[in-house]
Amino acid sequence: MKNNNHLFGGIEGGGTKFVCAVGVDPDNIRAEARFSTTTPQETMAQAVDFFKQQEAALGRLSAIGFACFGPLDPNPVSPTYGRILPTPKPGWTNADVVGMLRNSFDIPIAFDTDVNGAALGEWRWGKARGLDTFIYLTVGTGVGGGAYVEGKLLHGLIHPEMGHIAVKHDFEADPFEGVCPFHGDCFEGLASGVAIEKRWGQRGSTLSNDHIAWELEADYIAQALASYSFMLSPQRIIVGGGVGSLPHLLPKIQQRTKERINGYIQSPVILENIKSYIVSPGLGNRSGMLGAIALAEQALQRS
Ligand code: ZN
Repeated sequence: MKNNNHLFGGIEGGGTKFVCAVGVDPDNIRAEARFSTTTPQETMAQAVDFFKQQEAALGRLSAIGFACFGPLDPNPVSPTYGRILPTPKPGWTNADVVGMLRNSFDIPIAFDTDVNGAALGEWRWGKARGLDTFIYLTVGTGVGGGAYVEGKLLHGLIHPEMGHIAVKHDFEADPFEGVCPFHGDCFEGLASGVAIEKRWGQRGSTLSNDHIAWELEADYIAQALASYSFMLSPQRIIVGGGVGSLPHLLPKIQQRTKERINGYIQSPVILENIKSYIVSPGLGNRSGMLGAIALAEQALQRS
């Protein structure tokens, strides 16, 4: 289906801020708004108001894509579809966020994780164009991954939780106990922006590029990327997020991932061209917002 006559709404719902946009593709974003994430009712009402205003100015939306922080229920046949699942974020557990959109818009609505949305955005317009199996990982305040497997976004039972895999934790090198409320020293517990700040007593953005923190960080990320490589056989891994996108960190991650895989995956892209295997997002920090637009486009195609 051609997009020429369509206009899409996209919501990138984060734990601290929401970004809403109306447009068609990266070169045609007609309007954009961002606001703080407060209560579900207030935040979703702001999103609805924004889209209503844009419809009045630009014309009717054809579909809305909503790429949201999780955990959430993305399964359309589940009784809790469209809701946020139990989360430490006050007020959001069980919030029927898709229902709040449906009350105002009788058009196709797609609902997925923020990282699956970002993955789809990268597939549509970024560094995953033409691939059928890849991973989008974000390392920022939290850690999460979306997977596109053999031509579609992976959901399975609920959706992947790539931030919570176990990693080897050498307590001599890193005595920090981790910050995950569920697992302590899982990957996110050791490598998130929150973990960095708590371990070193200062924000990652204030640590110098040659601080030992980055060796540790690159190693945890590399352990995770090696595990994902063994499990899903991705053709590429895109690493984004406030921490993951740091230019000085990427070469360390590439090198250490290659060392961790240690020649076992016999593919030239890993053996000879690790820089094209592990890459930064092609859409920069717009993967999530544009991914929401891509989700809307897909919802319309499927309707
Ligand atoms: Zn965890």
